[in-house]
Amino acid sequence: MGNKCPEYIENLSDYLDGGIDPELCAEIEAHLGECNNCRIMVDTLRQTVTLCREGKPEALPPSLEKKLTGLLRERWRQKFGK
Ligand SMILES: [Zn+2]
Repeated sequence: MGNKCPEYIENLSDYLDGGIDPELCAEIEAHLGECNNCRIMVDTLRQTVTLCREGKPEALPPSLEKKLTGLLRERWRQKFGK
């Protein structure tokens, strides 16, 4: 596990939205290729986002997005003690 993981996790919801610059996007994708933990995070986040969007077509409300990010951070801390 790289110690840059928390940095990437901060950007994962933006990454899924396509709302980050291409350079960072490429960096995240490269990281996902070699980091199983982050890949799991992305899969989980993507599933949640998809589920939310199936209910209604508009973008995630900011409050929910915040909640998701908080949840991911918490899981990360539980798993790696950070
Ligand atoms: Zn990682």
